[in-house]
Amino acid sequence: MRPRAIRSARVISHDALPGKGRAGAVKLAVVLLVIVALGTPMLITLILKHAGERGVQAQVDLQAVITEVAIQDGLEWRVISGRLGPKEVRAELVASRQRSDALLQDAESKGLPSETTNHLATLTNAYSRAVDEEVRLLSLGQIKAAVEVDESRVDPAFVQAAKGLKQGMRELSAKGAKAQSYSDYGVLLTVLLSLITVSVLQSQRKRTQVRDEAQRQGEAHYRTLIDQATDLVLVLDRSGRATYASPSVHRMLEPPDRDRSSAPHTPGDAAVVDLVTALDPGDRERFFTVLQAAAPGSTTGGEFRVNGWNSTAICEISVQDLSEDPSVGGLILTAHDVTERHALQQEMAHLALHDALTGLPNRALLADRFEQALRSSKRSGLSVGLLLLDLDRFKDINDTFGHHYGDELLRQIGPRLAGALRGVDTVARLGGDEFAVLLHDVHNVDEATKLANSLLTALSTPFHVEGVDLDVEASIGIVISGEHGQDAVTLTQHADIAMYVAKGQHLGAVAYDPSVDGHSATKLAMAGDLRRALDRGELVLYYQPKVNISTGDLVGAEALVRWEHPEHGLVFPDDFIPLAERTGLIHPLTRHVLDIALAQARVWLDDGRPLPIAVNLSVRNLHDEGFADVVAGLLAKHDVPAHLLELEVTESAIMIDPERATQIMRSLSALGIRIALDDFGAGYTSLSQLTNMPIDEIKIDRQFVMTMAQDPSNALIVSSLVDLGHNLGMTLVAEGVETDQALTALDGFGCDIAQGYHLSRPIPVAAFDLWAQ
Ligand code: C2E
Ligand code: CA
Ligand code: CA
Repeated sequence: MRPRAIRSARVISHDALPGKGRAGAVKLAVVLLVIVALGTPMLITLILKHAGERGVQAQVDLQAVITEVAIQDGLEWRVISGRLGPKEVRAELVASRQRSDALLQDAESKGLPSETTNHLATLTNAYSRAVDEEVRLLSLGQIKAAVEVDESRVDPAFVQAAKGLKQGMRELSAKGAKAQSYSDYGVLLTVLLSLITVSVLQSQRKRTQVRDEAQRQGEAHYRTLIDQATDLVLVLDRSGRATYASPSVHRMLEPPDRDRSSAPHTPGDAAVVDLVTALDPGDRERFFTVLQAAAPGSTTGGEFRVNGWNSTAICEISVQDLSEDPSVGGLILTAHDVTERHALQQEMAHLALHDALTGLPNRALLADRFEQALRSSKRSGLSVGLLLLDLDRFKDINDTFGHHYGDELLRQIGPRLAGALRGVDTVARLGGDEFAVLLHDVHNVDEATKLANSLLTALSTPFHVEGVDLDVEASIGIVISGEHGQDAVTLTQHADIAMYVAKGQHLGAVAYDPSVDGHSATKLAMAGDLRRALDRGELVLYYQPKVNISTGDLVGAEALVRWEHPEHGLVFPDDFIPLAERTGLIHPLTRHVLDIALAQARVWLDDGRPLPIAVNLSVRNLHDEGFADVVAGLLAKHDVPAHLLELEVTESAIMIDPERATQIMRSLSALGIRIALDDFGAGYTSLSQLTNMPIDEIKIDRQFVMTMAQDPSNALIVSSLVDLGHNLGMTLVAEGVETDQALTALDGFGCDIAQGYHLSRPIPVAAFDLWAQ
């Protein structure tokens, strides 16, 4: 009995969609699957590609698993509704499961905890098994048993799997919430997730509907089930006249007072349907072109706006010529509602031009508006102003109160700035704590400066963030077109320079002045670059070995920073450290260098060959009260014992403010970190001044060592420094050992450690590891 029922269902579906209508449905299903399978995850991948975070990629994978589960649900629904036979979906189901398994594994390799992966795999397996059972029963025609399995097992398993996957997403987001890229992209993911949730819920509803229908009306009523399909199916001639329209077409185009339940449509009842009129007038001509282009064996189509009786939908229409087929005798048109997908795309477009955290225009949109403003300023004869604004000590707020407060503060900055500006001006967020303001129709620099100062005034009122009052200060660089440059690139660079002058000298708002403070403009332009270099990981460390002179053993490495500049190539520290010191960038720079160096120390430790690493400090670090905490934090982060870190300070740096420097060195020393006195001998200090400082090692300035052979007095200086240092219990290092002769002499003086080109130049870590072998 029952096997016959499912056969009859197929016969009915054949009637309902005349001729090869079922082929249309199959194709439609395939189209749908492709959209669901590729569309959304691909979109996410595209957007996230640049985030470059493995964790984000893992989120994308998980997102794709969610989509796969939705696909499986959709496939199953097509079997229940009789639109596809159980055999036809089998391969698709298997393929979809393989995809989701692979994605789960992939997500694990990118940082999804394995417990989560296992849990998710169990959930999706349970769901798969239940679906298999239901599909098997359906293929045997055991509809009632299938409905039972659906209710008792498939449905709950689906809900569990969907829940689990979303939970997994949340775990991943929470794990990655610290990184900036996550907070930016987290919003995007949330949007996508909620959209997918909506579509999953809709498909759930449809399934329930279909199931109820099956239960109520029994096996003979598969045709009714077909009628539940939401995609539109029509048979048309080339003038657009319909000879068949699926019930879904009627539902969309006609208000429900033409009560379908009392007067059900019969196939072929298309007289009242006029799709062409329902099309948006602007789309009609294109529609006719599509109809004309339809040919046997190929598909044409496009997206069209369709005005339903109560709403407008964007439909993806595809048309195939089946007029050769006597049972169709026309063009078969299928239409799928993609309105939601369009909304999603629009959302994406908005996100591409706006900052996710603050909703302000981002760098890309600012650049666009800047170009526009420059063009129109040429007509008006007035100038365009650009203000680059950078918050001072924003990091302190993040560190003290947490990122949540920092984020909330950043959200409040835009409205505060906008309140002090004219309606036409654009406030944009460039990233981090950096904002830009585009000023239209400015008469002169004074006017721009006045506006900049009013921004500073606006910011000087404390910000209320969750019961805390936060004081904010900022530095602003000012440029106006004409006076400070003609094009957007030059103007932005000059505004950047002005901003660094303002920041470095605590001047508030400063207009660009190429002669300022004797710094060359290019040097200062590099400051902007240097900041970005930090974010982009362009700073790398080279390592120079330190060798025990009497044994020849490798006893340590000095980390020396290099900047792999995209245009200037390898830039040496002498060319950018002074700049970093002037601009305050030395703080993030030192932190960054320590971070890389300690990560390297960790690698060596894990390799079973612990090696002390020396990192250079600058004057500013010795004036930074919080510095010891920063270092302690980084040691903990990398789980590196303090005795493997050595910090090098120069005597000149110490002598600027010996008391404060001593205090900071003491806190560092108390952590167990070794302190070395770099470039010693240049003459500022007598050793006796150093006796109450926690110094473990003295590095003799390379000027003395390099010239020992030519200048006997320098050899004498080196040998007496070695003696004096040893008397104070310090380790002695000779820098600038360029020859074997120098090495032998140092051995004779009893010097402990040598460092110099004779042993090795500073080299990248891979080369260093080779050298060490
Ligand atoms: P430094 O601390 O005195 O580092 C030693 C410098 O001497 C290195 O120059 C090294 O390449 C060079 N050198 C080593 N052996 C020899 C030799 O046998 N002969 C000669 N002529 N030179 C030798 P580099 O890497 O250009 O660094 C220059 C300075 O930049 C460093 O001098 C240090 O003061 C500073 N620096 C480097 N990295 C950092 C950093 O991460 N932070 C800070 N604040 N300063 C750094
Ligand atoms: Ca050094
Ligand atoms: Ca040195």
